[in-house]
Amino acid sequence: MAADGSTGTYTVTSSTERVTVTAGPVTTTTTTKVTMTAEGLGAGRHRAALALDIGGTKLAAGVVDATGSVLGRARRPMPKTLDPEVTFAAAVDCLHAALGDAGLGGRYDYAGLAGLGVGCGGPMQWPSGEVSPLNIPSWRDFPLRARLRDAFGEIGVLVHNDAVALAVGEHWTGTGRDARNLLAVTVSTGVGGGLILDGRLYHGRSGNAGHVGHLVVDPAGPDCVCGGVGCLEAIASGPRTVAWALDEGWRPEPAASGSAAPSASGSTGGDPSAGSDSAQAGAVGSGADRDGEPVADGYALAASAAAGDKIARAALTRAGDAVGVGLASCAATFDLDLATVAGGFSQSGPIFWDALRAAFDRHAGMEFARAVRVEPSSAPADVALRGAAAFILAPDRYAWVG
Ligand SMILES: [Zn+2]
Repeated sequence: MAADGSTGTYTVTSSTERVTVTAGPVTTTTTTKVTMTAEGLGAGRHRAALALDIGGTKLAAGVVDATGSVLGRARRPMPKTLDPEVTFAAAVDCLHAALGDAGLGGRYDYAGLAGLGVGCGGPMQWPSGEVSPLNIPSWRDFPLRARLRDAFGEIGVLVHNDAVALAVGEHWTGTGRDARNLLAVTVSTGVGGGLILDGRLYHGRSGNAGHVGHLVVDPAGPDCVCGGVGCLEAIASGPRTVAWALDEGWRPEPAASGSAAPSASGSTGGDPSAGSDSAQAGAVGSGADRDGEPVADGYALAASAAAGDKIARAALTRAGDAVGVGLASCAATFDLDLATVAGGFSQSGPIFWDALRAAFDRHAGMEFARAVRVEPSSAPADVALRGAAAFILAPDRYAWVG
């Protein structure tokens, strides 16, 4: 459609359908908005999708084009509620705000979108999209996919695990864009992962492939929330690492919390206030509560470690070691090109990473396994959001039937 206000037609392709949208006559007062609609969401390389990243503490939404550029974005805190409708209303509001940020608010016709991709904490019924996120108590068997489809004019909606969205984001436009075989791991409130094999997202039978948090890395290790014993998550998650440190006698220091968070000790960059909750330091904690009292969380632990606290250093070393052991097994199992690690500890600097790499080198014996690159997540601020969009925008590699 032309910016001069003439009537035009453009075509949008989604994973399952081709929709032709005919724009009406453009009036003077709506020219800018409708022009953005045509140019932002038109055919070919300009088509765009809505993306939603749902974590335990925040919602992030974006309008993402086929190159991975985020045209508009919004964030909302996750409501502290047990009312599923309040939580859902916050998600819809966040999506509308992202559309508005992209200049597509108000009278926007959702049919012009390629679709809506969602990354959400698990567990969930996949591919039908009924979600029961551990960290969102208001949603139990909540029909997220169906409700979003209703709310956004019957556009295509795909819902997958947030760690899977992270893996897809890494592969689509991130560190793994040149990798055919990729494992993306996030170490945060929990430990999750997603798997790209032969250039495509690998789902497994139930959509749970790549769920590396429950790799057994120490058969004599602690019990896990999953019911197993010695899982990676039971040892290396943010809360379990902090709990281990507290058991050993560590206490957060007021001067070491808050601003002295992981970014001060060798951050790989990225905006801690954005991106996947499970992939971000925000899920590990902020280091201080509103009154400035020190909080025993991942931030405070990383700050203590950077300041030389022996127990804190041992805790991060223990977590990094466990992740390295798990990655070595994955390298041998999947014959990977690349493994990426996201989450608060992945940005905490050399203590975690030195332990991770040492453990990986110790346990990856086969030459092909040793050759796997292990790197921090590329652009944690946006990678999960882009991945959710890629479910829709790159269906040949990342979409699924269901
Ligand atoms: Zn487990």
